[in-house]
Amino acid sequence: MPIAEPVLVALAGILGAMLGSFLNVCVYRLPRGESVVAPGSHCPGCGKPIAWYDNVPVLSYLALRGRCRRCGTAISAQYPLIELAVALVWAGTVVHWGAGWDALSAAVLTTLLLGMALTDARHYLIPDEFSLGGLGAGLALSLVPGGISPLASVVGAAAGFALLWVVKAAGDWALARGMIHGEELQQVLEAGEKPTTLGGGDLKMMAMVGSFLGWRGVLLTAFLGSLAGVAVFLPLVLLKRRSPIPFGVFLAVGAAVTLLVGDALVAWYQGMLVGSVP
Ligand SMILES: [Zn+2]
Repeated sequence: MPIAEPVLVALAGILGAMLGSFLNVCVYRLPRGESVVAPGSHCPGCGKPIAWYDNVPVLSYLALRGRCRRCGTAISAQYPLIELAVALVWAGTVVHWGAGWDALSAAVLTTLLLGMALTDARHYLIPDEFSLGGLGAGLALSLVPGGISPLASVVGAAAGFALLWVVKAAGDWALARGMIHGEELQQVLEAGEKPTTLGGGDLKMMAMVGSFLGWRGVLLTAFLGSLAGVAVFLPLVLLKRRSPIPFGVFLAVGAAVTLLVGDALVAWYQGMLVGSVP
């Protein structure tokens, strides 16, 4: 007997909440080079291990009113918010696509994108566990019938890496010839570091995006990500309040938009092109 859809949606939501809880651990520990398996969760205030009943996604935070049971140290609201967000993503993909390849692939990709956006925004780095691990997940999912073909997945991954490699090479070439100026560049040079325009994490991240969305998805993601990046950072540049740009955040937004409405956007654009021919 098939499982009723509301049950599937609820199960996906519960799974999402648990994965969101694990994502919190990954986002906190991976940039610090710590193991995501051991030791178990502990309070940053008193250092005591957190019991399983105080570690239930979202619910424990509400029950404890955002404080450690032992010492009363405030727990960041980011934890339950991420858990809730990933729960909604996993439930929402099943509502949108029905239980199947599309929902699973979209939920896995979105969860990884969220993790990358968080670490890039906070630490300016994208852990290999997310990018290369996600690339492996994308390639593996392409072997499951129902979605992108294995060939399209490999081509997409190569396209994502190649596209950003070219952008990075061009940017670094311009940097090396003094065609790009700026205060931070001066600081980087004074610190004796080699300046670079894009981090290697961005390249690996786009390879991962390509393994899920194919080469068309890569192009659209890069386009939308750049658009979002310019829209947010141009005002900051004009106000002279510049800081390093966590480009991965914008690529994550671009990939999420591509995932949701990419096909519709491409169809609309092609329609416009065809419509413009007399
Ligand atoms: Zn405590």
